[in-house]
Amino acid sequence: MARILIIEDETEIASYLRRGLSLEGYRVDVAFDGAQGLNMAATGNYDLIVLDLMLPEVDGFEVARRLRVESSIPIIMLTARDAVRDRVAGLEAGADDYLVKPFAFEELLARIRAQLRRQQAGQRQDILRFANLTLDTRSRELRVGDRRVELTAKEYDLLELFMRHPNQVLTRDIIYDRVWNYDFGGESNIIEVYVRYLRQKLEANGEPRLIHTVRSVGYILREDGS
Ligand code: CA
Repeated sequence: MARILIIEDETEIASYLRRGLSLEGYRVDVAFDGAQGLNMAATGNYDLIVLDLMLPEVDGFEVARRLRVESSIPIIMLTARDAVRDRVAGLEAGADDYLVKPFAFEELLARIRAQLRRQQAGQRQDILRFANLTLDTRSRELRVGDRRVELTAKEYDLLELFMRHPNQVLTRDIIYDRVWNYDFGGESNIIEVYVRYLRQKLEANGEPRLIHTVRSVGYILREDGS
């Protein structure tokens, strides 16, 4: 089931939303300010973010802008204001949808479902591209620039995970869970081994590094200097 991060400083609204969305079967976490929200979003643990516009310290516009630099996660912005200016600014900052308080819970639910459907449709796309990489998910063929590269089954699974979540930190737990489907107990160095294999293949002609280590957390697919 989809995992939703709510970034909302008003505790009553936050717990109302958490309760309602949990009852619908979503896994829900709450951040009570923008900085905490950005930190939690950076784990790559979420499929969608419900973001309040009026937040202390880092406001919703800024949070949306920073999230957008890092990922394409769907963002639904909540606001008490209904000025056209705010709506446009929210969408320009990177929100995918916009809901004015007070809103009916069913309305939020409908918007969440629509965004998740759109996201999943996007994730089913056959050809994934990032920097000089082109991965055909039907034939499981990888090209690095013009160079055709052979991957083993696990190398492919790991690279596909990275390419479906570019510019997002993937924790070791998430990688274990999605690629190996079970818990290694944290002792195994199998992720390091496979990342090394992938790097050797992606960088065989001196191409720039794309899979970067995030010390003591995991890895990120990212173009340096971007
Ligand atoms: Ca607020």
